[in-house]
Amino acid sequence: MEGMDTTDYFESYEDLEIHQLMLSDVARNKAYKKAIEDNAKEIKGKTVLDVGAGTGILSVFFAKAGAKKVYAVEASNVYKIAEDVVKENQLSSVIEVIHGKVEEIDLPEKVDIIVSEWMGFYLLHEAMLDSVIFARDKFLKEGGLMFPESATLYSAACSVPSMFEYWNNVDGVSMRCFGEKLRQKASQKPITEQIDPENILTDPENVLWLDLREVTAEDLNNIKIQQLAVANKEGTYQGICLWFTCNFPSYGTEPVTLSTDPEEEETHWKQTTIVLPTQINVEKGTPLAYELGLQRCNENNRRYKIEVTMLDPDEIEHPEFCNCYLTKC
Ligand code: SAH
Repeated sequence: MEGMDTTDYFESYEDLEIHQLMLSDVARNKAYKKAIEDNAKEIKGKTVLDVGAGTGILSVFFAKAGAKKVYAVEASNVYKIAEDVVKENQLSSVIEVIHGKVEEIDLPEKVDIIVSEWMGFYLLHEAMLDSVIFARDKFLKEGGLMFPESATLYSAACSVPSMFEYWNNVDGVSMRCFGEKLRQKASQKPITEQIDPENILTDPENVLWLDLREVTAEDLNNIKIQQLAVANKEGTYQGICLWFTCNFPSYGTEPVTLSTDPEEEETHWKQTTIVLPTQINVEKGTPLAYELGLQRCNENNRRYKIEVTMLDPDEIEHPEFCNCYLTKC
């Protein structure tokens, strides 16, 4: 793909520590495992494509749930470990590991199910979803299942004490100047940090909802949304926090959600926060308006430029039953 830095990207996945991090993410593994086990009836006897199988864990979940055949496609050299994991679990008769980019391989048949763990920071970073979309359009049977099948990106105003208050007093030393420098850097690159739910100042707003059975790569190029939020507590507004959830198919069982919400069990994605240059004190009921833009970079399709623009809450339309204290004529 034009502008895509694929060599570095796949080499980065040869680092065992990245796989260690993912495999140690209990919430992540648990969600996939439960979604797959809960759907065992739908999976029994079916064919599955695992896009970006890595060490093969998701393929093994499917084989154990009764899949007839699993194609575990992995572009990086980690495919060798996937082969060993398959042997170690005596599943060589079900799982076939294929070394290659999903865009460049062939399969002898179309599949009933596609599984992938493609999510990056703030959902879209790395843009691996493009490859899953490609695989879906080429290899998924009409009406086939996607694991996960939908994803939602959220935003909320928040405090980021690690970037502000902390620097007022580091073991008795005032280091505000350092904090300021950090924030300048953070304005180029959002931070990845677990945000204490206490520091979330507004109810989350939807930024993006993706139906993974239908979304196209073009839908992911340029996302722009105006948010009007109302502070639900007193606090210091210092940033915009982003997180996501993914939902899996469900037939008669409670749908499984993988959530990176600050309120939920921590995951390796944590949250992504865009830090504001200056802080704003808010009270309960203060309206906050901002525009959030996520635009794919031309130089590298796997990256996004994230832009937050403060808007004047007086100048944007409020819903009919807005609970903010702004009085409109
Ligand atoms: N499924 C594994 C690994 C997820 S990380 C797990 O859940 O633990 C994503 C993996 O997808 C990486 O190993 C990366 O090398 C691979 N990958 C990304 N894009 C790919 C593509 N286009 N074709 C094949 N593999 C890809």
